[in-house]
Amino acid sequence: MSYKDVWILGEQEEGQVKLVSYELLKRGRALADKLGVDLIAIILGKKIGKNGIRELIYRGADKIIIVEDPALEFFLPEPYVNTIEDLVNKYKPEIFIASATTTGRTVAPALAIKCNAGLTADCTGLDIEDRTGNLIQTRPAIGGNILATIKTPNHRPQMATVRPHSNKPLESDSLRTAEVIYETVDPVRLKSRVKRLEFKKNEEEGGNIQDAEIIIAGGKGFKKDDNFKMVHDIAAILNGAVGATRDAVDLGWATYPHQIGLSGKTVSPKLYIAAGISGSVQHLAGIKTSETIIAINNDPEAQIFHVADFGIVGDLFEILPLFKQKLQALKKGQETEEIQGA
Ligand SMILES: Cc1cc2nc3c(=O)[nH]c(=O)nc-3n(C[C@H](O)[C@H](O)[C@H](O)COP(=O)(O)OP(=O)(O)OC[C@H]3O[C@@H](n4cnc5c(N)ncnc54)[C@H](O)[C@@H]3O)c2cc1C
Repeated sequence: MSYKDVWILGEQEEGQVKLVSYELLKRGRALADKLGVDLIAIILGKKIGKNGIRELIYRGADKIIIVEDPALEFFLPEPYVNTIEDLVNKYKPEIFIASATTTGRTVAPALAIKCNAGLTADCTGLDIEDRTGNLIQTRPAIGGNILATIKTPNHRPQMATVRPHSNKPLESDSLRTAEVIYETVDPVRLKSRVKRLEFKKNEEEGGNIQDAEIIIAGGKGFKKDDNFKMVHDIAAILNGAVGATRDAVDLGWATYPHQIGLSGKTVSPKLYIAAGISGSVQHLAGIKTSETIIAINNDPEAQIFHVADFGIVGDLFEILPLFKQKLQALKKGQETEEIQGA
């Protein structure tokens, strides 16, 4: 049996399919269509919710392979990697992509070793080479200064991880149908030397930045630590999160969990406000999929204006206090209306 089809590794938490699974389906769909093969989502868990399975179908999967077992309730490297290895050996996918989440980053390298395959981590682009049908994997290299194109012509599956939130999912199409296959796995393969003792949510400051709908981020234009407080104040009024460039983090104005970009987090908020940020390629790598970007910079030539939907050329020390005042007034107005309406 020769290698065929494109697989994505779906992820779940408490049986609910996670957003990264739908994001991967969009990447996988484009590849499968170009190759004229099926797009298959695999997902492991104790019990996968029906709504999530439906959404996997509606958002691009032609086939879904599900393995349900109490031992797969939470991600543990050995049972997950063994289970997926058995599936790969049985079905022989040509391409296997996972999200660069903790799960994906752990499963993919271990699986690549077991399958004697290559792996390109943290890809920003995936495509199919016209002439050969090989997977073209693009990722920043040499400190983000070049984009490297990597191919795996001699081994299968061709494996890659892509950054979570680096693309949006496809629209949900309720007319789509797919085959759903339930697989079982040999209990011996589910043994784990690692035990899950407890789970603590990441309460670290800035930990939720990737889920935020609004982010206001600051860069070196803030000049000093004290001034960066403005970013926190405005984020609080907007119920948003605080982001920062690497320079702002290096200067100690924000902590690393707030860093956005190539060596920080990739975010995809509805609104991204970038103040005093020049728009380096490394920073832009983390904000590309934001729905709307507003940039405030006193240099009209700043790179950030090339990606911004709205640009304000001016001094952030004049603009942000006015913005803050306006937001406070709006918020007060809303609260008064709510009290009067009650
Ligand atoms: C391997 C590698 C990985 C990296 N990873 C990241 C990363 O993950 N994230 C990241 O952000 N960077 C990253 N960098 C660093 C990146 O190259 C830039 O150095 C950084 O993004 C610049 O940060 P900045 O925009 O805050 O500073 P600057 O580039 O110095 O820009 C400051 C901006 O503020 C503006 N400004 C100044 N005063 C005012 C004012 N009063 N009002 C309005 N605007 C003003 C200026 O016009 C300027 O455009 C990485 C670099 C390398 C080599």
